[in-house]
Amino acid sequence: QPIPVITIDGPGGSGKGTIAGLLARRLGWNLLDSGALYRLLAFAARNHGVDYTNEETLKRLAAHLDVQFVAGDDNEQHIVLEGEDVTRAIRGEEMGAGASQVAALPAVRDALLERQRAFREAPGLVADGRDMGTVVFADAGLKVFLTASSQERAERRHKQLLQKGQPASLASLLDEIVARDERDMNRSVAPLKPAADAILIDSTSMSIEEVLERVHAEALKRD
Ligand code: C5P
Repeated sequence: QPIPVITIDGPGGSGKGTIAGLLARRLGWNLLDSGALYRLLAFAARNHGVDYTNEETLKRLAAHLDVQFVAGDDNEQHIVLEGEDVTRAIRGEEMGAGASQVAALPAVRDALLERQRAFREAPGLVADGRDMGTVVFADAGLKVFLTASSQERAERRHKQLLQKGQPASLASLLDEIVARDERDMNRSVAPLKPAADAILIDSTSMSIEEVLERVHAEALKRD
């Protein structure tokens, strides 16, 4: 029996990261935040002065990313790059936009493929991103595609950033979200789109708890 996987794909701010984290904890499964890998790569590129369009160098950087995912005292997953805790540093929209640029390069996606698949360990994996159900774990037993209106997603991001003490303008967040969606949906490799066998959930007027219960119920059905 292959190790079970649940994939949660969708645009930024749809709540997929939150739902994936809560579901993984509830099931006692491993978690893959694949977006963090692309954010890390953008961050490392910026640190090393590598242009976001330099595919050859980015590919090498991706293959050698020195990163660890560690559980902190706060029960949150911490991301450590080259010995430095970058959990907060990579969250901002600047690294989100950088991530979506490097993520459009085929050689970069290729270099990160096996690294992502290595997260599939017993007893199971919850993976969130853009192409978890379409490319990386195309054999997943449950695929969810989570969306929400762009206005709602911008408002959620806004709130999230405020809570983290990183204020941002709502209007510019909305612009950035729309621009990032465009880039993610229109790229030639692994574009953002639901897998043919994915369940679509629009979370615009749903609470986190409601989405979690819905996804968990689907997971139980497939046991
Ligand atoms: O989900 P998150 O906002 O952290 O993702 C940042 C960017 O990384 C996305 O906008 C997307 O371009 C890219 N990404 C991707 N494939 C994934 C996860 C993220 O291309 N599986």
